[in-house]
Amino acid sequence: MKLKILGSGAWEGIPVPFCKCKICESAKKPKSKNNRTRPQILVETEKGQFLIEISPDIRIQSTKFNLPNINYFLISHWHFDHMYGLLELHAWAEFVLGKKPKLFCSQKTKEWLDQGFAHIPKEVIVVKPFEKFDLFGINVTPIPLYHMKGRDNDLKENELNNAFGFLLEKNGKKAVYLADYYKLPNKSLELVKDSDIVIADGTYLFEEMFPNKPEQNDLKSDPDHLHGKQILDFVSGLNAKKVIFHSISHLTEKSHEELQKLLPRNMFISYDGMELEL
Ligand SMILES: [Zn+2]
Ligand SMILES: [Zn+2]
Repeated sequence: MKLKILGSGAWEGIPVPFCKCKICESAKKPKSKNNRTRPQILVETEKGQFLIEISPDIRIQSTKFNLPNINYFLISHWHFDHMYGLLELHAWAEFVLGKKPKLFCSQKTKEWLDQGFAHIPKEVIVVKPFEKFDLFGINVTPIPLYHMKGRDNDLKENELNNAFGFLLEKNGKKAVYLADYYKLPNKSLELVKDSDIVIADGTYLFEEMFPNKPEQNDLKSDPDHLHGKQILDFVSGLNAKKVIFHSISHLTEKSHEELQKLLPRNMFISYDGMELEL
């Protein structure tokens, strides 16, 4: 299977609207690895393609990466940066595709889709935690994550139904996409361990290096994600061959290359267009 990271940025993307920081300025140069769209991953096998997430930047990505006509989407959760590209697909779904795009997601994400996206043609397929299904020859397992502290924290592991990661297995190889999280249930951790590739949340990676601006103080206490050193400690415990960080923020004010140099040998900062094969 082949994976391509189409969007490597955090929820606000880079450049951030109106931001004049060094990283946002450098991201305006064509081909800069600091230019980052919101999360989306293309997964390909010889049988077909699907996307993980529906990035708000899907319109730009589909042109930039010359995407084929894709009709299958795995959605991790209902936050803006992971799903709201569905609004961009409205006309495409209605007038061009001629059939409904198929969206695989949790029960809570379905409820969100039913409320706010009722006008968009779509077929929603609710997937259950740990129940495997096949998509183009890949065995996909939804992995529940603790992400939305206000909603998830009091739930038992088997009740989690907001945010999912996805384990992808084919020919004995394991790739895992972990969307956003502050903790993993024990059963999810067991499944994720010893993977070939883990694509992990890097929103607050190297947070200790964020310049101390007052407007960022609230972000530093965001309880829905791991922060700073917690991130490296968590991924180090997974025993993955390779760790790739997604959702990279402009807040460190460090370039792609500067961030990469700070990581251990088997860990990588993703960039838009990064290809992985396994
Ligand atoms: Zn900036
Ligand atoms: Zn989120």
